[in-house]
Formats: sequence, structure tokens, C-alpha cells
Amino acid sequence: MTAIRRSLLRWYRANQRDLPWRRTRDPYAIWISETMLQQTRVEAVIPYYERFLDRFPDVAALADADADDVLGAWAGLGYYSRARNLQAAARQVAQSHGGRLPDDVDALRALPGIGRYTAGALASIAFDRPEPIVDGNVARVLSRLLGIREDIKSPAVVRRLWDEAAALAKGPSPGDLNQALMELGATVCVPGEPRCPRCPLRRQCDAQRAGDAAALPVQTKKPPVKSVAAAAAWLPRRGKVLAVRRPPQGLLGGMWELPGGELEAREEPAAGLHRALRERVGLRVRSAEYVGRVDHLFTHRRLRLHLFRCDAPEGRTRLAGFDAHRWLSPKALATLPHAATMRKALALFDGASAPGT
Ligand code: SF4
Repeated sequence: MTAIRRSLLRWYRANQRDLPWRRTRDPYAIWISETMLQQTRVEAVIPYYERFLDRFPDVAALADADADDVLGAWAGLGYYSRARNLQAAARQVAQSHGGRLPDDVDALRALPGIGRYTAGALASIAFDRPEPIVDGNVARVLSRLLGIREDIKSPAVVRRLWDEAAALAKGPSPGDLNQALMELGATVCVPGEPRCPRCPLRRQCDAQRAGDAAALPVQTKKPPVKSVAAAAAWLPRRGKVLAVRRPPQGLLGGMWELPGGELEAREEPAAGLHRALRERVGLRVRSAEYVGRVDHLFTHRRLRLHLFRCDAPEGRTRLAGFDAHRWLSPKALATLPHAATMRKALALFDGASAPGT
């Protein structure tokens, strides 16, 4: 254990990538980075991290911000519940902890959106507490290093990985040690073929000795991605366009989009659009001109969104499945927080330049 720790720390100090969140000891900034890095690649996070901190430089700024501004700063990163939880937690920190993030795991885990991983990351990286972290990179490194050849997601293996990571973290510089494990997984002990000749742990590594590193970790097959079709409309009225907001819980919660809905089995996009507009926003349209479609891959589903430009709708707006609506100029519409699918959709309407009737 001591030899592994020493090798890891020495390697990390010589080889770590220069990343913006590694230049700070500010727990708030580290919290933002750790939250953004969940499910998102480092290169994609960097510009978002820098813009977010410019805009909301501390807990108080984030707690006091308008929820739409926070979602807007997050738009494009995906998994929007992370942004909503971040702000809810900032408000709790402002109210109950004097604006300073608590430094122990239990108090951190009591905050919205902070699970075992983020609490361990904050406690160890920001406060140098001997707390473990297990993410995908750490799990891969440990499974190869220790020769764990059972399903990496099974409860027994998950328990073991946390126990092993906890034992490793109980030494000098736990924050650096945890980051070293993650960095090794991201740059050397990568998925598929690892780069063992460059690895500081090659002498201690079970999988390297056994020659089956590329086959580890053992993972049972993921469930197939579900395909979903939907239709949405550019609905103009007196120079403005209708935008609707998803309720806070669930997929893309709190994001704005063009009104519409999922198609039923074997339903034609145009027919589905008319039905969805009636059922979900209470409006009827006479004509709907097909503009095109956009495809987007989420973690568990593949969405095909058909887009239509309609005439001015009849009826009064009644929402079902959305929690707010606004009639907006196309320019204002483009500034609302919206997900990547909707950004692609708006681009189809030629930068939303012509609102129609
Ligand atoms: Fe991963 Fe190879 Fe290092 Fe083992 S020796 S931890 S398989 S990179």
C-alpha cells in the first residue's frame, strides 16, 4: 500500500495535466469543477467552468442568481439536474453554513446533489481529508491493479472498490492521491488497451502480470438504447413565438423548448404534432410545414425530433406536461436556457429570423 501511494504521488506530481481547477484551493471552485466533470469530458468542461466562475464567483452569487441564468450558463453541458441542485445546495450553504462549504463528508452529503463521490472529492481535494473517491477511472485502475474479475457494477465489487480506495486515501496528501488515481485512469490506464509501459504501478499490477488488462474491468452489457420520435412546432403569433418550459424534475428539467411532444407508436409526425399541440398546450393549427429533423443521443435513448413551421394557432394556451410558457421574439427565445437538441432545432429555423404570422 505504501509503495503504491508513493509511486502514485510521485508520478502525479510530475505528470498531472495543468487544469484550471487544479490551480485553486477554493472549495467552491473545486465543487463547481467536480460537479461539471460528472458525465462530461475534461475538454468540454473547461470553457463552461471558466464562464460559470466569472458569472457566479462564489456561493453567495450562485445562491442569489436567477434560476434561468444558472441553467443558461449550464446549457450544453447536459444533465441539467446538476445545475438545479448546485443552486439549491448553494442556497443551503448560504443559509446554514455562513456561505462556506462544510469540510466533512456527512455535512456535504446532506446538501442537494452531493453524493458519495462529490463529497469524497470535496473533502479530500478541497480540505485534504482522508476520504475516498471512486469514479469510472478509479474503478478501472483498481480493478486492473488488484485483479478484480467480477462485474464492476455488482454491489459486492462496488463495496470492495470503496474499501480499497478508502484504505489508499488513509495516507499523506489524500487529495493528491485521489487525483492521481483519477489522472492515471484518464491518461494511462485508459479503457481498452492501457499504456502499461508508462504506468508507475506496472510492477504491482495484477492485470499487467496476467496479461488481461484490456479485458478489465468486467462489465455486463448495457441495456439497448431506446429510440424515441417526437415533433415540435415553431408557433408564431403577432411576431412572437411560443416557448414552453419543462417541469424541474425529469429529463432536461427546467429547460425551454418549442412546444410539441413524443409520437405514439406508428403515428405520422404531422398527425402527432397536431395531437401534441392540442393535448399539451391547448392550441390548434391549420397548417404545418415540415422543416426537417434533428437527431440527438442521450445516455439511454436516441431522440429523433421532427420540426414544423405552423401558422398562427387558435385557442388559449393550456399547459399539460410543461410548467411555464412565454411568447417571445425569436431573439429572446434563443437566449433562454435550452438543451443541445433545441439549439440544433432553432438552427433549422434559419437562426429563428422569421417569426411568421
Ligand atoms: Fe493499468 Fe497497466 Fe498500470 Fe495496470 S500496469 S494499472 S493495467 S496502466
